[in-house]
Amino acid sequence: MELIIGEHAGFCYGVSRAVKKAFECAEKRMPCVTLGPLMHNPQEVERLRQAGIGSVASVAEVKDGQTLIIRSHGVVPEAFEEAERRGIPVMDMTCPHVSAIHDMVKKYSINGDTVIIVGAAEHPEVKGIAGWAGGPVIILEDAESAKTEPLPDRAMVVAQTTMRQKQFEEVIAVLKTRIPELEIRHTICAATGKRQEEAERLSRNADVMIVVGGKNSSNTQKLYETCSARCRRAYLVETPEDVLPEMFMGSEHVAVTAGASTPEWLLSQVVEKIRKITQIIE
Ligand code: SF4
Repeated sequence: MELIIGEHAGFCYGVSRAVKKAFECAEKRMPCVTLGPLMHNPQEVERLRQAGIGSVASVAEVKDGQTLIIRSHGVVPEAFEEAERRGIPVMDMTCPHVSAIHDMVKKYSINGDTVIIVGAAEHPEVKGIAGWAGGPVIILEDAESAKTEPLPDRAMVVAQTTMRQKQFEEVIAVLKTRIPELEIRHTICAATGKRQEEAERLSRNADVMIVVGGKNSSNTQKLYETCSARCRRAYLVETPEDVLPEMFMGSEHVAVTAGASTPEWLLSQVVEKIRKITQIIE
């Protein structure tokens, strides 16, 4: 039986950087909290909590003496302003790719022009980007909403960094027909693009495709959707306990990918369990 692990599976640069910094703070016994869970992976968030770094839902919950860690998704500018007002030290781990989008929308909307964000309205990254725009913001989830939403004659469009390329292109195709002065910024993260392309390729050739990641992770969900559209036996697993022998019965080609918020140790544990199971079945 062939087992292929995707080269682009697991932590992206932005998440890895934030997690590394948080564990460094834990080692130094710095009193820190993250604004929202550091990443969409319950197991890694729990490991961080056990190391002494918890999370708060708002700046108001930060206690005196604590440092606030901003996660890679970024936040609205008001969060920085509130922290500054209260004298809370901030460790800003916003991914540089996301900060670049904040700068883009801020600059473009300085005179009140509209910014369109293609992404999930409830995703913290999208909320953060919207907060940096000085003018009106329209959030579009897909091409269908782009057809019906009232739109201005002039706008700049950006994408949530983990958006599927195809979905973004579909929205752009509609916007081009409806907005005469449209400025398009291709802000999908290269790491996301590579992971999605690899997952597409692997799932096309696999009998069984395993996607490892938090069920609350938007990019893991998108990876799973990509894989299940190409491979009938695609499974989304969070931990080795979710990996079951019946998933691999009669399979010859098994491939594994993982979301951007899946830590290396968890991916390795899942791969180890797959190896054990497939050896027994063989
Ligand atoms: S997916 Fe890309 S943009 Fe988002 S945090 Fe990771 S590296 Fe940064």
